[in-house]
Amino acid sequence: MVRSTREHRHRGIALSRGVALGRVCLFVPAPPAAEVGAGGPEVEESRLREALASVSARLELIAGDADETVGPGEAAILRVQGMVLRDESLWETFAAAIRAGGATAERAVTDAFRLFREGLSLTASEASVGRAGDINELEGSLLTALGRAAPTIRCRDAMRCAVGQCELRNPHILVISELTPALVMEVDDLTLGLLTARVGPTSHAAILARAMGLPAVSLGDEGLLERVPFGADLLIDGDRGEVIVSPDPETLAAYAERLRSGPRKMRVAQPVEELQVLANIGRAAELGVALAAHAEGVGLYRTELEPLSLGRLLDEEEQYHRYSAVVEAMAGRAVYIRLLDLGGDKSADFLGLPHEENPVLGLRGARLLLARPEMLREQVRALARASRAGTIHVIAPMIIDVAQFLELREIFEDEAGRFEGRSLLFGPMLEVPSACVQARQLLAAADFASVGTNDLTQYLFAMDRSNAAVARADIHHHPALWSVIEDLAAAARETGRGLCVCGELAGDATLTRRLIRAGIRQVSVAPRGIAEVRMAARSSPGR
Ligand code: PEP
Ligand code: MG
Repeated sequence: MVRSTREHRHRGIALSRGVALGRVCLFVPAPPAAEVGAGGPEVEESRLREALASVSARLELIAGDADETVGPGEAAILRVQGMVLRDESLWETFAAAIRAGGATAERAVTDAFRLFREGLSLTASEASVGRAGDINELEGSLLTALGRAAPTIRCRDAMRCAVGQCELRNPHILVISELTPALVMEVDDLTLGLLTARVGPTSHAAILARAMGLPAVSLGDEGLLERVPFGADLLIDGDRGEVIVSPDPETLAAYAERLRSGPRKMRVAQPVEELQVLANIGRAAELGVALAAHAEGVGLYRTELEPLSLGRLLDEEEQYHRYSAVVEAMAGRAVYIRLLDLGGDKSADFLGLPHEENPVLGLRGARLLLARPEMLREQVRALARASRAGTIHVIAPMIIDVAQFLELREIFEDEAGRFEGRSLLFGPMLEVPSACVQARQLLAAADFASVGTNDLTQYLFAMDRSNAAVARADIHHHPALWSVIEDLAAAARETGRGLCVCGELAGDATLTRRLIRAGIRQVSVAPRGIAEVRMAARSSPGR
């Protein structure tokens, strides 16, 4: 490991517990390429392949919508555009320009499309004018996708690895200003910890880091992040929110034991009587950890995270296999699967959403599901089929009121109703203040409800959960939030419906007894946090 001379310490926000030591690995979003980058033709080819895949997936999605809205003619045009992009001869033209002509991905696109247009102008028919318009559109979409093309990471010696593919096989700390859930999911075992600047403790990226047992700290200050030197060793302490650049031998000795015990160890505690503790998962692959932690079920499966990391939606079969795996692994224990909660801070190019000034208040969650009924129906089919092996509680995200819940429920029942032998329950996630105000009516119209304290806190206090600059360590103790939680627990008792708290607050063991006192009997937390919550539940009821 490279050692530099002087230790610096910085105080930040603890995002995910544990300590880690590794070399700095700096994430740098790729600039729009004017010339072939240091990664050479392979990188240009892979950028272009990614852009092609993302644009054609988006076309397919819009075509699905067009079928219902503007009719099959328009949809067919979009599908033809998708076929043009998947055509092997187009790829060969691109690849030849990159490999033999030394072109960037962008230049390969503009050259190929210029040739296309020239060919068309030889036949000056009306149809060819229409096709030229399509071609311009395709070219524009590809160039836009390339502009947002996969960023890369850098360390002292390697210039163009991708996240999760460290060429030097160095254990490292990934230093990354804007950490997204998709990037967290891409890291491999060589990434020992994460240092970021912008995200807050209840951001989805932080939630995932905790689920993966990956220590993480946010400095909340972009400037500090820029000053973290290449090639330095970095020690991050995710328990105290501390970052130590170039730790000196005394510091390393003081941390030796915690570093040795490893950041990813998991404690196990058996179930307790007063509180059912289930697991939050983001991928069916996390089931193993949930089982190892003796989770009493899966209390929240965030089904949008995998599409976000893959850059595309999963089709019905793919979803069916994942949901079935969860039901089977839980073998009769409770299973709660949330409908796609996309949009807002979980937006992606493949959704083809219009630009929004305030995406967190925009087309997201239930609103997006209602705007994309085909996407919703496909997921409902997969859920209905998987539920033949065991009951699935289906959670509707970001519900704002009873009317919206019922509108969604109608589509849900209509699609699910086609499947004999299904066993589905349907309930809202209570995470928008207006829905909490209507909790009694909502619970009466539902089979159960979940409480999403992350968004509830965000909207209750007008405090962006993804912005470290406005994060407040004590916000989960705020009396306004507890008065909502206590009222929701009372509403659940009165209506005889189950209520599960599954935001990050539920994983804070210092609040476990308070939740029990508030009348909460079921929580869902990151699998690695289950033991601590159970131990806290077992501790003296006076706490
Ligand atoms: C929440 O908002 O508390 C929640 C459980 O959902 P997510 O964190 O995925 O928004
Ligand atoms: Mg939420």
